[in-house]
Amino acid sequence: MNTHYEVVIVGAGSAGLAALREVKKRTQDFLLVNDGPWGTTCARVGCMPSKVLIEAANAYHRRGAFEEFGIRGAGALSVDLPAVLRRVRRLRDGFVKGTLQATDGLGERAVSGRARLLGPGRLEVNGREISARAIVLATGSSPVVPPAWRSLGERLLTTDTLFELESLPPRIAVVGLGAIGVEMAQALARLGIAVSAFGRGHLGGLSDAKVSAAATALLGGEFALHLGAEAEVTAADGAIRVRAGDAEATVDAVLAALGRRPNLAGLGLETLGVTLDARGMPPFDPNTQQVADQPLFLAGDANGARALLHEAADEGHIAGLNAVRVANGEKPACYARRTPLAIVFSEPNIAVAGRRHADLADTPIIEGEVDFARQGRARAGQRNHGLMRLYAEPETGKLLGAEMCAPAAEHMAHLLALALDRGMTVRELLRLPFYHPVLEEGLRSALRELAAQLPAAGESDLNSCGSFEGIGAEALE
Ligand SMILES: Cc1cc2nc3c(=O)[nH]c(=O)nc-3n(C[C@H](O)[C@H](O)[C@H](O)COP(=O)(O)OP(=O)(O)OC[C@H]3O[C@@H](n4cnc5c(N)ncnc54)[C@H](O)[C@@H]3O)c2cc1C
Repeated sequence: MNTHYEVVIVGAGSAGLAALREVKKRTQDFLLVNDGPWGTTCARVGCMPSKVLIEAANAYHRRGAFEEFGIRGAGALSVDLPAVLRRVRRLRDGFVKGTLQATDGLGERAVSGRARLLGPGRLEVNGREISARAIVLATGSSPVVPPAWRSLGERLLTTDTLFELESLPPRIAVVGLGAIGVEMAQALARLGIAVSAFGRGHLGGLSDAKVSAAATALLGGEFALHLGAEAEVTAADGAIRVRAGDAEATVDAVLAALGRRPNLAGLGLETLGVTLDARGMPPFDPNTQQVADQPLFLAGDANGARALLHEAADEGHIAGLNAVRVANGEKPACYARRTPLAIVFSEPNIAVAGRRHADLADTPIIEGEVDFARQGRARAGQRNHGLMRLYAEPETGKLLGAEMCAPAAEHMAHLLALALDRGMTVRELLRLPFYHPVLEEGLRSALRELAAQLPAAGESDLNSCGSFEGIGAEALE
């Protein structure tokens, strides 16, 4: 192993591998250091195994709709939990294999070990001091677990351990109802586990009280849902007791879903000479990923900003490009970030596109919504549950953001993100074709509610020939 490199990347997760892709195209003088298992959090214990579990849970849950469709015999179906978990791991192994190809053939330029900073441009790896012209830190994050809960031993689960189980215990408490908590609580409940879920505020990253209330009512119909008070966990008589305010549950295991903390402890950030904030985070620029004015770039979950896969990949990409620039004596380049988009794979999906309702508290907005209870296509599929809310500028009708707990929200949120990215107005969106019958007709209803609050325009959804001017009345109803 050399002791000097142009670029050193710490962490071979999605951010680190995105950085590697850019670095490798520009220099062969690099080192990739990874602590723990290779294969990325997303593929090993994150996005992918969780979605495999959710798909099995949703498939089994669907039996509840059969009778209404006129399909008999659903009561004879059962779930084979060990088989479900074996499939999770089988597919997981395939996803991991795919990510490992990114580091195949790197030889001595990929090493296992824990890196620690010794100062600007200096690190220690496996007891060896290394210098670099630029460093990318992409060390990811880990589940937050209150130290007292550790006494539960193997009965304390996180998503790092859940998918390794041979089977699932009959009663599980899910504590924490952000994206991961919501997804796992619903999936476990749909697989027949008695789930007691505990959360503090809005579900799944929502900030709009009406959408959150809709999500709470829908999910609360599937498992015991307790929101508000902080949960206390104690071991009692072979079982585990979880208490939050007046709510109490006795369970066999607890899934800690209290969020994830950037893996920065023990990384030696204090050796950089930059001021760390109360959380121990150094100042960094989200458009360059640079830490202060140092030859150091912080990407992915490690910077605690946008703990999502596509954002981690973008940040690694930016960090990789800029690490090479800085190593070559150039200034880092500034990259615009994408329209915010976050999806929780519950049923109905929870999604946020653009600005959240809470972020618009000081901005004048108009709001439009659709309740999917009466939406035609949703009713046909027995998926007529949920609420979508859209926010727009009152004068121009420019779309600003959306929050929803709605069927197929994962797709409609992408459509809205496209519109937001293009700075489209409500009327421009209403000019698009909406096929019949589709769930997007629900989105059109919410857009029409917004349009009704805008200054009056022409008399049709359609443009006049040769004109790009507005619409006002509903066409093609
Ligand atoms: C259950 C679950 C479900 C999720 N679902 C989704 C989803 O549906 N959609 C979505 O967008 N996102 C999802 N995420 C989030 C997504 O997985 C993460 O945002 C993404 O994986 C972060 O990638 P990363 O490169 O920052 O970190 P990681 O992939 O964790 O990589 C960091 C690497 O750095 C290593 N490392 C740490 N410290 C050191 C050190 N000192 N020296 C050397 N190496 C070190 C770690 O061991 C690790 O290998 C989910 C996460 C979880 C846990």
